[in-house]
Amino acid sequence: MTADNNMLIREAQTIQPDMVRVRREIHQIAETGLTTFRTAKVIVRELEAIGIPSEDISLMLEGAGVTALIHGKSHDHCIALRADCDALPIREMTDLPFRAENGNMHACGHDTHVAIVLGAAKLLYDHRDLLETDVKLIFQPAEEVDCGAKLMIKEGVLENPKVDCIVGFHAAVPGDAMPEFPCGSIGYFEDIPVAACVGSFKAVFKGKATHGGMSPHLGIDPIYMAASAVLQVQAVMTREKDPNDPAVLSICQISGGNSFNIVPEEAFIAGTVRTLRKELGEEILKRIGEICEATAAALKGKLEYTSSVGSEVKVDKAMMKQFRLSAAKIVGEEHIYKAVKPIFAGDDFSYFTDILPAVHFNHSQAFEDGTPMYPNHNNRFIVNEEKIWTGAAVAAQFVFDWAEIMTGE
Ligand SMILES: [Zn+2]
Ligand SMILES: [Zn+2]
Repeated sequence: MTADNNMLIREAQTIQPDMVRVRREIHQIAETGLTTFRTAKVIVRELEAIGIPSEDISLMLEGAGVTALIHGKSHDHCIALRADCDALPIREMTDLPFRAENGNMHACGHDTHVAIVLGAAKLLYDHRDLLETDVKLIFQPAEEVDCGAKLMIKEGVLENPKVDCIVGFHAAVPGDAMPEFPCGSIGYFEDIPVAACVGSFKAVFKGKATHGGMSPHLGIDPIYMAASAVLQVQAVMTREKDPNDPAVLSICQISGGNSFNIVPEEAFIAGTVRTLRKELGEEILKRIGEICEATAAALKGKLEYTSSVGSEVKVDKAMMKQFRLSAAKIVGEEHIYKAVKPIFAGDDFSYFTDILPAVHFNHSQAFEDGTPMYPNHNNRFIVNEEKIWTGAAVAAQFVFDWAEIMTGE
C-alpha cells in the first residue's frame, strides 16, 4: 500500500520551516563547482538529523558530493532522487537577509533543490515501512560547470545498490515554456526535450607579439583573428543550418592582451552552442572550428580548438505518465502545467538520463505579489520559498507510487 497523499501533504507542510532554514543556510554559504564542501557537511548533518544511519551516508568527489541510502521493504530495486547543490561565481546583489557575501551566489535555485530532496528524504525515511524499494539520494556538485554528474557516475554513485531509474527537477518561475506557473505548481515537458544539449568551445588564436605602434607589420595579430572569427562563425547559424532545426550560438568570452600598446601572442574566444539534437550540436561545433581555422590561416596565425557537446535531458514516457498522477495527488490536476515550448537551458542531469529511465519536473517558485523576478544566473535572482514543501511532497509521492509499480505490489 502506497503512502497516503493527505498524510504526505500534512507532513510536508509541517517540515516546510525546516526546509526553509536549510535552504537559507546553504544560500548564505554558496559554493561553486567541485568545492561544495561546507554545503556537503550541512547535507550530511541534516540527513543524520532525519535519522538516516551514518553508515548509509557517504561523501563523494573528495567531500563535495553526498549520497545516502534509504532502505525500503525489498532491495531488488532502487530509485534515485537527485539534487544539484552548486552555486555560481556571481556577486550577489539581492537584499535578502541571508544573502551570500563570499562572491558566490545561488542564482539558479540549487539551494532549494537541496532543501526539497532533504524534505522528500524525511517523508520517505519516516514512512520506509510503506516504501517498496530502496531509494538513493544524490546531492551533486558542479552542475553549472557540466561535470558533477559525469564524475559522480564515474565514482560509482549508480552502483551498490544498482540504481534502476532516477528523478530530477529544477526550480522555475513563469517563462516562455510555462507562461502561467503559479508558486508551488508543477511543470513538465512532453515530446520536447526537458533541457537542451549543451555544447561548448574554445578557440585560441596564436600569433606573434610585437609593438602595437612601431611595428605591427612585424607581428601576427591574434586579436584581429579573434574579432574576425566572432563575426564569421554566426554564418553557421544563418547560412548553413536548417531554420526548422533550432539552435543557439553565443560567444560569451573574448580575451587577449594585457597592454594597450602590445600586440599579444594569443587571444581566445569561447562560447556555447545549444541544440535539441546532439548531432546538430556536433555539426555546428565542427563548422565553428573550421571557420576559426580558416580565419587564423588567412591572417597568418594558428589555431588551437577544443569543443564538446552533451545530450539533451530525456524522460521515460511510462514514468512521466505515473508522475503526473502522483503530482496531481499533491497539488491537484489544475496545478500541473505542460510546457508549450522547449527551453535552451542545459542540465547535466542528461548524463543520468543517457543511461537511466528518468522523470524530470519543474517546481514553480514564482512570486505573485508583484515582487520583481529576474532570470536564472542574474545577480538579483530570487525565488519564492513559500511552497517548496510541494516539491518535496510530489517527489516523495512519486517515489512511493513508482516503487510500488516497480515491485508489482
Ligand atoms: Zn544554472
Ligand atoms: Zn540550475
